[in-house]
Amino acid sequence: MNYNKKSIEDVEVSGKRVLCRCDFNVPTKDGKITSDKRIVAALPTIEYLVKHGAKVILCSHMGKPKGEWKPELSLKVVAARLSELLGQEVIMAADVVGEDAKAKAAALENGQVMLLENTRFMKGETKNDPELSRELASMADLFVNDAFGSAHRAHSSTAGVADHLPAVCGYLVQKEVSIMGKALADPERPFVAILGGAKVSDKLNVINNLLEKVDTLIIGGGMAFTFLAAKGYCTGKSLLDAEKVDYCKEMMAKAEAKGVKLLLPVDAAVAAAFPSPIDAPIDVDIVAADAIPADKMGLDIGPKTMELYAEAAKNAKTVVWNGPMGVFENPVLAKGTIAVAQALAESDAVTIVGGGDSAAACEQLGFADKITHISTGGGASLEFLEGLALPGIACLEDK
Ligand code: ADP
Ligand code: MG
Repeated sequence: MNYNKKSIEDVEVSGKRVLCRCDFNVPTKDGKITSDKRIVAALPTIEYLVKHGAKVILCSHMGKPKGEWKPELSLKVVAARLSELLGQEVIMAADVVGEDAKAKAAALENGQVMLLENTRFMKGETKNDPELSRELASMADLFVNDAFGSAHRAHSSTAGVADHLPAVCGYLVQKEVSIMGKALADPERPFVAILGGAKVSDKLNVINNLLEKVDTLIIGGGMAFTFLAAKGYCTGKSLLDAEKVDYCKEMMAKAEAKGVKLLLPVDAAVAAAFPSPIDAPIDVDIVAADAIPADKMGLDIGPKTMELYAEAAKNAKTVVWNGPMGVFENPVLAKGTIAVAQALAESDAVTIVGGGDSAAACEQLGFADKITHISTGGGASLEFLEGLALPGIACLEDK
């Protein structure tokens, strides 16, 4: 995939009807927005379009209405908040591609902003229905994609419309693609990737792809135990993807053949059972990775592993991190994740964090502003790192 995509700055927007796909999938409670972070993040692109005299037609999905008209998932709350943030009216359409939306889009003046209803109210959206794509496109002259978090989905509003309109990226997508694209295509070395989280199978393809690119691959979190099992160690009651043991063996052989350093835990924090509730007080023992008792489960990396991983991260020039090192939701088991987050924060390297839980960990721990780039897309950033062409990005015009 070409990572050098045209942006809103590369095309004429003045006087044009611009359909801009945003990520307004904000959390709400009792009809109120509980975090407007995503709306705030969308402002630079919207403000650019307004300032340059575009007729701005915004769209987004929110939640999973699955093609049903669900009033509690209406984007009206977003229009209200966006109006406040922009300091100008955001005209709310009563539908997505119905009469009201079309009439309002046609009546827009330069610099005005409107918002369509939740795109997933339409059954065709997630099926990338060509008819819906055509209807959406019929309202506009140009498509701007600024929703990175949905870019791995081929939906009507994320990719389908680009079959009918010239398509470019907004600032958010541009930042994601340029930083992560550079890391993959032309990284400053040493290039270190750190993978964690719960399951090997979720991150299978990314392990395989990253071994082609990195100098060092670090594995932590629940998925590390399948690798330890592949080394022939007893992993006790730890998370184990039994079907993937052979795959892990293959990956270890591949790393060896390619001269990639593959770092696995040398020690672990183990306990008798998974904490319940997840943040309940828990007693842990630190044991060597090859000495996990049969009746214990590994829930975090141990202190020697923390040192080893932090050292590798500190000496890197590019670091990509996806997935926590342990059950970080529990303060006793968050130490490994904190150690890695801190190492990234203290490193001079280009540091990139993808994955919902790892991004949340960086934010909760207060390291977010010391990370070069925290991706706004969990699934999308993972597919990006797998080297896949994301439909919402592949459909944009190359520079
Ligand atoms: P991300 O969202 O960053 O991609 P994942 O969703 O893959 O990360 O994994 C995050 C989850 O992995 C967390 O809920 C965490 O508690 C869990 N986890 C991490 N280490 C372990 C472990 N050793 N055993 C069980 N679960 C773990
Ligand atoms: Mg997750």
